[in-house]
Amino acid sequence: MSMMEKPADIRPLNLRSITVEDDFWLPRMELVRTEMLPYQWAALNDAVEGAEPSWCMRNFRIAAEMNRRKRQDGDRYMEPKYEDRGFHALPEDPAHPDDSRFYGYVFQDTDFSKWVEAVAYSLTRRPDPALEALADDAIQLVCAAQQEDGYLDTYYIINGRDRSFTNLRDHHELYCFGHLAEGAVAYYEATGKDALLRAACRFADCIDRHFGSEEGKCHGYPGHEIAEMALIRLYQATGEPRYLRLSRYFLDARGQQPCRFLTEPHPEGSGMGLPYYQAHRPVREQSEAVGHAVRAVYLYSGMADAARLTGDAELEQACLRLWDSITREKMYITGGIGGTSVGEAFSFPYDLPNDTAYAETCASIGLVFFARRMLQLHPRGEYADVMERALYNGVLSGMSLDGKRFFYVNPLEVQPLACREDSRRSHVEPVRQKWFGCACCPPNLARLLSSLGAYACTEQEDTLFLHLYLGGTVRKEQNGRTAEITVESALPYAGDVRIRVRAAGTGLRLALRIPGWSDPYTLEQPERYQREEQDGYLYLSRDWEAEETVTLHFPMRPKLLRANTRVREDTGKAALVKGPMVYCLEEADNGAELQLCSVSREPDFAEQEGQIDGHPVRFLLAKGHRLVQDGADAPLYREYTPPVTREVTLRFVPYYAWANRGENEMTVWVRTE
Ligand SMILES: [Zn+2]
Repeated sequence: MSMMEKPADIRPLNLRSITVEDDFWLPRMELVRTEMLPYQWAALNDAVEGAEPSWCMRNFRIAAEMNRRKRQDGDRYMEPKYEDRGFHALPEDPAHPDDSRFYGYVFQDTDFSKWVEAVAYSLTRRPDPALEALADDAIQLVCAAQQEDGYLDTYYIINGRDRSFTNLRDHHELYCFGHLAEGAVAYYEATGKDALLRAACRFADCIDRHFGSEEGKCHGYPGHEIAEMALIRLYQATGEPRYLRLSRYFLDARGQQPCRFLTEPHPEGSGMGLPYYQAHRPVREQSEAVGHAVRAVYLYSGMADAARLTGDAELEQACLRLWDSITREKMYITGGIGGTSVGEAFSFPYDLPNDTAYAETCASIGLVFFARRMLQLHPRGEYADVMERALYNGVLSGMSLDGKRFFYVNPLEVQPLACREDSRRSHVEPVRQKWFGCACCPPNLARLLSSLGAYACTEQEDTLFLHLYLGGTVRKEQNGRTAEITVESALPYAGDVRIRVRAAGTGLRLALRIPGWSDPYTLEQPERYQREEQDGYLYLSRDWEAEETVTLHFPMRPKLLRANTRVREDTGKAALVKGPMVYCLEEADNGAELQLCSVSREPDFAEQEGQIDGHPVRFLLAKGHRLVQDGADAPLYREYTPPVTREVTLRFVPYYAWANRGENEMTVWVRTE
């Protein structure tokens, strides 16, 4: 099989060529810059009052100091001998941490990597010399912690290198590498500075020397995937084919017999079953999405990348099957994935409980990664529909409207009392929390939101794909000229899209997504273009004038959706959507006991502009009924009588905006009449 890149790779554009001016998303990207990045930096440095320390930069400082001493002492330097400090090491006396020890989670280094990645994207959008200087200093410290052979994971550097790469299943070294590589490529692309990129390459080279199918090498692979897609990003940034080969090696080694995870020399830690790690069979033979949902979609993203770049049809078929498994049987209507908290995992097909859902923010983010890569394999509207659904709902619900509080778990139904009293729901928080000790979701949100341009559009030779109609301007170089395309859209509230095209002489072809939620659409002055519709995209080309406008109308109306009858929890219920947005009922608008509410067959929807916490929010009103509640003295059971109801107007709030008014009940699925 050829390792050569196919000539017409579909790729995201460099973020420097995209200016975002979107009314909906830009304020949220600004929250990342003004709220999340400073908070994240303080958290990395254990400077958030009242929050559990991260220990992250402290660990790098200790590792850098060890390097300095090693250089100074030469042969007299004593390497630490490995000591298992557990998955989450904390000081015995919190007031007096030991200055030579590693603290935090085994993957704590990734806090830095995700921060620097989000900083990079933010800098491309908005230069900020002070922030860049801060990042440069942090990078210098991280690089100073790197070992002579390129190794760079502070957990083993501080605890003892003699055991590095011996517990791949649970100790996240390759996961730390993956995040480091993602951050390094992003920072290089944003600033042109390559110190971190060179460090990531040296770490990759160290890993490449250690792992592989050859005799004498370690036949292992990551316990938590991400290195697969990160290596491909590193390959694309540097052109080094060994990184693509190493990614392929990790993909192909996973799930082979004898299973590496069952024979590791030092298997400390819990050790979940093999499906949890997607290591139960070779990836090319996998058809059902199983196990830890974040791990799974990170793996599938890497598989889709590798399939695209190597033309590997078998791997591509596996991606298609896994995509179908998720989106046809295992995905919440919000784009949430992970139906069970046990292993933060996919459950069996159609098992999508609303109140015990896991639906981790990171998993929806990973689904966005996977969807974008499926779009790179084949531009098909269904991938963009899922990506958009996840972004506006299961991803965005992870963050409060003010950008200061976060959900890890994104349920579709909440009763606050149950979260407190019922240990089966103890993973569900009824309100967003401040930063977490295990801080995966908020920094993941920060890096995704600040790089939204990389999901909104992709390019392939002369074609520009517009997937999300993100407001703003894209500059695309082709045929020695620059095509400038400015998108103005009323999304997510209405489907009117105006695209100003300045592309004379460029031969630009536009590929415009026809959203799955749209009723039959119209293109103004269709006779002006050569048109072709394929797989949910409208392809337009013409001999462009100096400046002209393409106008599209994708009719958008509130709709009640029902679930497949196999989804037991949703039987007899409906969920309200409008365009990409899913709505829900909250106690703040409809009173408590939301199970009493039902929505009419002809709900006569009306839109209502409102505010929550000073932020504009569009509510939807609908006709419905409410069961009259039993009195306090009513028995638990009695003979059936037709229910007594009264007419009410139900007020629905966009799902992303729920839980911004204190603790209250919420439900996405509502009984129908
Ligand atoms: Zn997370």
